[in-house]
Amino acid sequence: MLNRRVFSSAANSAQINVMLFGAPGVGKGTYSKLMEKEYDFKTFSMGEYFRALVKNPSTDPNDTFIIKLKQILSSGQLVDDQLVVDILRDVKKKPEYAKHMGIILDGVPRTVKQAQLLRDSGFKMDLIINFFNREDILLQKLMSRRVCPECGKNYNIADINTPDGYQMKPLLPKKKVDECDDHPGVKLVIREDDNEWVIRDRMKVYEQKTIPILEFYQRECKETKVVNFEAKKGVGDYPEVKKILKETLNI
Ligand SMILES: [Zn+2]
Repeated sequence: MLNRRVFSSAANSAQINVMLFGAPGVGKGTYSKLMEKEYDFKTFSMGEYFRALVKNPSTDPNDTFIIKLKQILSSGQLVDDQLVVDILRDVKKKPEYAKHMGIILDGVPRTVKQAQLLRDSGFKMDLIINFFNREDILLQKLMSRRVCPECGKNYNIADINTPDGYQMKPLLPKKKVDECDDHPGVKLVIREDDNEWVIRDRMKVYEQKTIPILEFYQRECKETKVVNFEAKKGVGDYPEVKKILKETLNI
């Protein structure tokens, strides 16, 4: 069991915390990259954090938190809600995050319990943008995804243009229509779990998990602004996202 590190109050309490919500495929990654470029935000992704931790063998011998966390991961123990919150607080103190104006959280908190623990620990969420698509659009987008079996690069053949304003251009290979740009001769494939029923299932699970988290923040965290945003144009919606940032955070 990990001995909980005693945390002092937030290292940089003026820092802005933004959470981007949205089902897989809705385009959160696109917006967070644009926000990082234009504002002084840094994105924290829990998934990437764990992947990096597992991959990187060298650890600062003074960093007892990371050393213990690695022991937990390598022993196959589950990462519980409190540990997720401890990780976030640890990350926030690290210079590579603390030096920025704000942090974008991607994929965390993942449960209401995590949100509660985070709130109780004094971690203030300033803004949550909940990106959503009409369900049939999201389904079409995910089913049109094509991937290179060699490198995992994603393409998309969906060409969406609806009367109610959805405009999404396909993202096709530049050289040959069904081959990866980086791997000539390798045919693009559909991921096994990108079929209608698996996707519908994923969307349902996502909703069941997500909506209670949004409700928690709306109900119990008066300082958190929650904005629902129907992302109809991908990158083309970015000016609208900027308006949200301006109106809610005054940046
Ligand atoms: Zn490839």
